Formats: sequence, C-alpha cells, structure tokens
Amino acid sequence: MTRIMDYIHIIGGGPAGCCMALLLAQQGWPILILEAGDWSAELTAKSERTLALSQSSWDVLAEIGIAPHELNAQAIRSIHVSQRGMPGQVLLSAEDAGKQVFGYTVSYQLLLMGLRKKIQSQSLITVQANSRVLSIEGSSSAARISYQSASSGKQSVLSALSIIADGGAEIDDPRALNWSYGTEALSCQITSTGAKDGLAWERFTPEGPIALLPSAKGLALIWTGSSRRIEDLCKLDDPAFLSALQDWFGDRAGCFVSASPRHRYPLKSRFSLRPAQHRVIRIANAAQTLHPVAGQGFNLGLRDVVRLRDCLGRGQTQDPGHASILELFSTSRRADRWLTGGLTHLLAQGFTFPLPGLRSLGSCALSAMDLTPYLRDRFARLMSDGLAA
Ligand SMILES: Cc1cc2nc3c(=O)[nH]c(=O)nc-3n(C[C@H](O)[C@H](O)[C@H](O)COP(=O)(O)OP(=O)(O)OC[C@H]3O[C@@H](n4cnc5c(N)ncnc54)[C@H](O)[C@@H]3O)c2cc1C
Repeated sequence: MTRIMDYIHIIGGGPAGCCMALLLAQQGWPILILEAGDWSAELTAKSERTLALSQSSWDVLAEIGIAPHELNAQAIRSIHVSQRGMPGQVLLSAEDAGKQVFGYTVSYQLLLMGLRKKIQSQSLITVQANSRVLSIEGSSSAARISYQSASSGKQSVLSALSIIADGGAEIDDPRALNWSYGTEALSCQITSTGAKDGLAWERFTPEGPIALLPSAKGLALIWTGSSRRIEDLCKLDDPAFLSALQDWFGDRAGCFVSASPRHRYPLKSRFSLRPAQHRVIRIANAAQTLHPVAGQGFNLGLRDVVRLRDCLGRGQTQDPGHASILELFSTSRRADRWLTGGLTHLLAQGFTFPLPGLRSLGSCALSAMDLTPYLRDRFARLMSDGLAA
C-alpha cells in the first residue's frame, strides 16, 4: 500500500539521523524516522566504541541540549603522535590550535541513548522502529520508500524528502567509490598505570594506526591491523592480549593492566559521488564512511547535518525536496567532504603503504612538526576541526 506523507523521512536512527531529526524539529519540520532496529531495547554490544568529538561537534550537541558532562565525556587536551620503529614524534596541545580542548570523547552507546531520550520528548518527531528500509527510488515529484515493518509487513510511502542516515550499511548507492583497506579495527577499554588526564596517543605502525583515547573507564583502545592479526588478538586471553599490546605500543602510556571484551570492525571507506539528488539526500556515514584513524567520521557527518538544516531553513515554508535545496547542499558540502575524506585516506595509508622511504618521510614529517610551531598549529587545528578549521 502507498501513502503520501507530509513528513521529512529520515532513514536510520543512529547518531546522525537523531541529530538531524532534532535540529529539523527545532525548525518546525515534522519528521518520521524509520529505524531498522529496536528503539528502546538495550543497544547491542556491537555499538560499544568511543568517539572523539571536536569542540565544534559539541557546540552542535549543545544546540540539541546535550553537554559533555551529562554523557560522562572526557576532555582531550593533548595528543602524542609517534611511529613504531622509527624516530620522530610530536606532542600536539589544544593550545597550539588556540583552544582549551581538542574535544571530548564519548561512548557511542551513551551518546545514542542521550539523543534518543531527547527525541522522545519532541512532539514533531515520530519514530517507527523495527522498520528496515529496503529501497528508495527518487524522482522529481517524490521519493518512494519501500520498507519491511516488523508489525505490518512490507510497506511503501511517498516522501517529499528522504534523508538517508543508515550508516552506509544497506541502501544501495551505485554512485559510490568503495575502498576496502583489508584491515580491521579492534576496540576495547584498557586501564594503564600511565594514563594522564586529557592525554591521547596516536601511534602509526606498519600494519595500521593504534589510538588510545581518554575515556570514562580509563583508555579507549582502537587498534587497526590486518584481519588475521585482529582475529588472533581477539582470541587471546586478557594477559596475553595486554602483553601483545605492550609489545606493539611500547611503554609510553605506562603498563597496561586490564582490558574489556574486544569488538571488531572491518575497515572500508565509501564516498558517495552524488549525495543529493531526486529528493534523496545521504548524510554522515551514508554519504561517506571514513577510516577511524583521525576520528573524523561523525565530526564530518555532523557538519552534513548542520549544513542540511541551514539549507532547509524554517519548516513548511517551502518544498523540502526542491532541486535547488539539494543542489545548494551538495555544492556547499563538496570541499569539506573531499578534503577530509582524502586526508583521512592518506593518513590511513601513508604510514603503512609498502613504498620504500615513505615511512621515513612520515618520520621526518613528525620531527618537522615537533620543531616547527606553524606546522604543529596547522596539524592541531586539523585534528580539532578537520578541514573546516
Ligand atoms: C572503531 C571506530 C571508531 C570510530 N571513532 C570515531 C571518532 O573517534 N570520531 C568520529 O567522529 N567518528 C568515529 N567513528 C565513526 C562513527 O562511528 C560514525 O561516523 C558514526 O557512527 C556515523 O553515524 P551514523 O548515524 O551515520 O551511522 P550509524 O552509527 O551506523 O547508525 C546507522 C543507523 O541506521 C540504522 N539502519 C541501518 N540500515 C537501515 C535500514 N535499511 N533501514 C532503517 N534503518 C537502518 C541502524 O540500525 C543504525 O541505527 C568511528 C568508527 C569506528 C568503526
């Protein structure tokens, strides 16, 4: 059955979809979220990861009514960057970027629960959980959304504007560039004798970067490496795992004491060449999925969200799916998407690519940054705000 709806439809109630819904509802737009999973049930362990969010991202969350302390978020004030087996290291401080903090880390799960709680008290937002969107066909007059609802079976609606925020997981985008790194990320919580308030570590290794971020439970570890290595690491018991980490990371963060259960994420990047057309707009991971090396995925996604809110303006004064709005959104997001995506890809590859001399070049770059305040300042700003800085 096909119904014509007055809502703006958002596909996916993850962090990006929820922020989009809340900001648009503030502008007076009625929103319908179609979410594949359960809304109120305990979130799955799969979502247990720590996100480092820039100060600009927290400014957006503040507009929604969410502050770092409510989510037990931890400040990042400095970042130590080094390379395994090579000289050269740099300590970036937020002051280098003229800021008090680079940002705050937050548990994905707590962030999502906080956002979903806000949605429950927003009368303009309707949530249809357990509704998996199967396909969307855009056209100049309406977008047809087909979905499978757990309660009412296969359904179809016509929408003036469909915003895809499915995390890039499911809805086909034939115009996307896809890149598989052949690597995976392992994420868990660590405690260590050397954790210092506000200090994060990023260490590049021949197999991929390792990051240790301040978190409410100690340090959040993100260890990237070949799928085989990550699989093997996940099978180790805690003492053997901590010893492998110590060996790979060194003792700059002290002695690793305990580790929580490990989670694995295959790493790929995906970049939509036409994120907005025919009344369908892709945002955040649905528009671009980045390697987590620079912690820019959701930060960049939030900039999509804010820009789209600004392009749509105040609710019901216009057709939200008009081609001119989609064109404005696409054009104004192009530079930031390409530059942040490209630079993240370079960072992910740069220290691991098996080209003779490339690792030495990386090592020289770190040394140069350590010695040159201007370079340190530029890199610190990049880590803080991406290329929007
Ligand atoms: C290990 C790791 C570390 C990271 N660290 C950082 C970091 O430090 N900083 C940072 O900014 N980013 C980081 N990221 C990236 C960040 O997690 C993502 O950018 C962010 O989660 C994207 O949010 P999203 O809402 O677009 O997608 P998701 O979080 O994937 O949410 C998508 C939602 O859509 C729903 N959905 C999926 N398919 C359908 C469908 N067909 N129909 C209806 N609903 C559907 C899902 O159930 C889910 O609720 C990291 C990623 C990883 C893997």
